[in-house]
Amino acid sequence: MTIAIVGAGLGGLLLARVLRVNGIESVVYERESARGARGQGGMLDIHSGQRALRDAGLLDQFFAIARGEGQDMRLLEPDGTLLLQEDTPEGAPLLRPEVDRADLRDLLLDSLPEDVVRWGHAFESAGDGVVHFADGRSADYDLLVGADGAQSRVRALVTDARPVHLGQNVVEIGIPDIDHTHPDLAAMVGRGNYWVLGDGLSLAAQRNGDGRVRIGLSFYRTPEDWFATSGIPFDDPAAARARLVELLPGWDPGITALIEACDDTIVARSITTLPPGLTWPPTPGVTLIGDAAHLMPPVGEGANMALLDGAVLGLALAAHDDPATAVAEYEREMYARTGAAARMSAEIQELLTAPDASRKMLAFFQPS
Ligand SMILES: Cc1cc2nc3c(=O)[nH]c(=O)nc-3n(C[C@H](O)[C@H](O)[C@H](O)COP(=O)(O)OP(=O)(O)OC[C@H]3O[C@@H](n4cnc5c(N)ncnc54)[C@H](O)[C@@H]3O)c2cc1C
Repeated sequence: MTIAIVGAGLGGLLLARVLRVNGIESVVYERESARGARGQGGMLDIHSGQRALRDAGLLDQFFAIARGEGQDMRLLEPDGTLLLQEDTPEGAPLLRPEVDRADLRDLLLDSLPEDVVRWGHAFESAGDGVVHFADGRSADYDLLVGADGAQSRVRALVTDARPVHLGQNVVEIGIPDIDHTHPDLAAMVGRGNYWVLGDGLSLAAQRNGDGRVRIGLSFYRTPEDWFATSGIPFDDPAAARARLVELLPGWDPGITALIEACDDTIVARSITTLPPGLTWPPTPGVTLIGDAAHLMPPVGEGANMALLDGAVLGLALAAHDDPATAVAEYEREMYARTGAAARMSAEIQELLTAPDASRKMLAFFQPS
């Protein structure tokens, strides 16, 4: 059986690894030209996905790169009132440790022989057991697995569903080497997550393994074209930072100092999701895993679900001679598991967009 996986993200690589551990070969076709061709973004909190890493035989290596202290959390009001502070005790179990996305991807890549991932292969189309790439090359397959993320092109082979805008627009900025450049702000943010929730606005600062603090400013209840009307001059980072501070009226200057301390890297991200509980008719020879199958609000489930998808599909393929039976078993489990995760994510998203989001989140973390 020839298994072609499109996308060397977390889901696709985990699937290739679990297949390999079970003696099944696969090929991963990745659009990027090389491992380091694109920055991989910040930290991921990995909880249920640990089960998938265990199935891949990589749990100990994962714990070696995970940051337990990254579980620390501070929750504040925009006026600076500290609502909640949770510090991870020394030696506490690594229930939701943070890991640098690039480190986790490297762990998965290093667990596979070099020739498993074929870089520079951008999926274009597929049919009749042949997958076609943008540069004209093609390859045969018996099973095609779309692991090509939020903007999946493989998805169109099984469903007409498309991601829709969630009413959230995020500006990502960051402070490099914070311990040396801004030790006062480093102490304020702490070792993990620093979260300020206002009315329709949030600031999420998070320390990364390399000493950078990544900051996501979310603007909720905003339309898809909001960046064009926001007055943020993305081509002038200093002026963009000044405009971002203006967009947080009444916020404590100690908090907005985080924005003023950022370097010139600035990324605009419009958040889209698929309908929670999306399913599709059984499609011979094709299935989806990860964000391609169930793009959710970014509240900490997506990577975990992508890893689990890879493990569940890999183990099903190892257990059944007939790939159609394996795919049906995988899809049944995946629909139930990710449907529940998507509904829970949607509920958390609703709390975040509420006018009294900080109090609602406090009640969420400290139910009476
Ligand atoms: C800012 C942010 C923070 C997040 N934080 C968390 C968190 O803390 N915890 C959590 O669980 N989740 C988190 N998520 C969600 C998580 O990142 C995703 O759910 C997860 O990466 C999905 O994995 P994947 O393998 O499906 O897709 P990806 O990791 O996106 O990988 C897809 C791969 O497919 C490749 N590809 C795309 N198109 C093609 C093509 N045409 N041909 C070939 N290859 C292609 C891409 O280059 C990429 O390598 C976060 C998301 C965001 C945006």
